Amino acid sequence: MINIKIEKRPENQLKPKPKLKYAENEKDELGFGKYFSDHMFLMDYTKDHGWNNARIIPYSDLPMDPAAMVFHYGQAIFEGLKAYRGKDDHIFLFRARNNFERFNRSAKRLCMPRVDIDSAVKGLKELIKIDKDWIPYGTGRALYIRPTMIATEPALGVRPSSTYLFFIIVGPVGAYYPEGFNPVKIYVADKYVRAVRGGLGEAKTAANYAHSLYAAEEAKQLGFTQVLWLDAINMKYVEEVGTMNIFFYINDEIITSPLTGSILPGITRDSVIRIARDWGYKVSERLLSIDELIHHIEKGEVKEIFGTGTAAIISPVGELYYRGKNYSIADGKVGELSKKLFDYIQDLQYGMKPDPYEWVEQVI
Ligand SMILES: *Cc1c(COP(=O)(O)O)cnc(C)c1O
Repeated sequence: MINIKIEKRPENQLKPKPKLKYAENEKDELGFGKYFSDHMFLMDYTKDHGWNNARIIPYSDLPMDPAAMVFHYGQAIFEGLKAYRGKDDHIFLFRARNNFERFNRSAKRLCMPRVDIDSAVKGLKELIKIDKDWIPYGTGRALYIRPTMIATEPALGVRPSSTYLFFIIVGPVGAYYPEGFNPVKIYVADKYVRAVRGGLGEAKTAANYAHSLYAAEEAKQLGFTQVLWLDAINMKYVEEVGTMNIFFYINDEIITSPLTGSILPGITRDSVIRIARDWGYKVSERLLSIDELIHHIEKGEVKEIFGTGTAAIISPVGELYYRGKNYSIADGKVGELSKKLFDYIQDLQYGMKPDPYEWVEQVI
């Protein structure tokens, strides 16, 4: 286990904080990814010394050589999780170790070194304790956590870097649904793909998001919030949506794509599968073609469609656009199952319900 050097920002140089406490029905102005706390956790990797120099220092710019390999060959991976201020003002993490396990799988795929999970979690908890005053109040709000690893060796030539920087930055984020649950409109991409079997799809790496921007912008211009990706080989099977996995509740079956290698194995996806099965639903991880989906929509058999991910937990889909046609889902309303899953997972995350899965960990 690592030793962490701590250098705190002097009291009189703390950053101004956004408003973190709001009245019951007051809309927050935190948004997402706009604010970052006073400190950050870092450690360095060299071939000879492994991970070293673990430290928490004031949040600041990173000194980087312009030849650093991340800028040229894209070795960059990240994670996204949250710390929740919940019951009795305690601070909770939800399945944080699973995020670092996935981080290590992403690292392996990108030829980057693994981190020691205990050390990463220790660094994260220390950072949360030091910046705990940044954690917003109120269910739905949270401290967003972004662990990241980048290649730092200053050298050109395509090969894995020999040095890396690991860092964790954190910042307060607002409630995803300030005005209540709001179904999204999604656009089925039939020209662009996100990831191909054998590619990087199952890694949380920057390249996948660079890849997705163009289609997302096109969809936005047409008035859609998210892109639903089809598999890249047949342009046939539904895979995932934007930065979320996706579920289809059709007749009496809840269907989501299997982990084919081209989709991101979401932790919320896994939680939803386990919870829904425990509630007695039939959940199938199976291929679902867009034609089969449209057929079920036309027959009125699609009860609900929803995305899953850390940011929103559950994101109901109200409308789907495919090849020139708009399809309304669940009358554009929020389905019962979506609501039930959202409430249950959110209650777990804020320590409001007993946790039979041992997913929730109290930090403070
Ligand atoms: C992060 C992410 C998800 C959701 O993962 P969670 O662990 O549930 O937050 C799904 N799809 C993509 C492409 C992602 O980047």
